[in-house]
Amino acid sequence: MIKDSQKKEVYNFDSAMNSLDNINLNEAQEIVNRICSPYFPNRIPKVKIDNRHKGLNYQFLGNEITLTKKFGNLPLSILIHEIAHFFVRQNDRNLKRKFFSDELPEGHGPEFVGVYMMLLNQELHYGMEVMDHCAKINRVKYNFNSWNEIIQNRKN
Ligand SMILES: [Zn+2]
Repeated sequence: MIKDSQKKEVYNFDSAMNSLDNINLNEAQEIVNRICSPYFPNRIPKVKIDNRHKGLNYQFLGNEITLTKKFGNLPLSILIHEIAHFFVRQNDRNLKRKFFSDELPEGHGPEFVGVYMMLLNQELHYGMEVMDHCAKINRVKYNFNSWNEIIQNRKN
């Protein structure tokens, strides 16, 4: 079992981040392309709509974000959560970190939350102070280590 010690706290943080602007599932691929291509033009995740699936997830190996119609219209912030998983894992892969080792950030660890916050700021203009406050009251730790690596490598 891979450690994911602040998963519950991040899900609580998610509820606070829920955006009011819902997107249609049919728009999801276009949004994923738009957000990912400036950073990772060579490996854009595919959006799959699977109604047998219970929730949402991101599968790194298949590079797929699975959504379900159960959600109907989807808050953009939830799609951004899944995109943030892709960003962190793709950055690990580019830096040749070994999967299933201690080198890797946890699924919902501080590196993930930092990327998630930066994408929420970029796409939904959430202020960093508000997000910092929500992180604190939900006891969510974050840092910008992965985000800084992503930005660094984009310039190269
Ligand atoms: Zn997640």
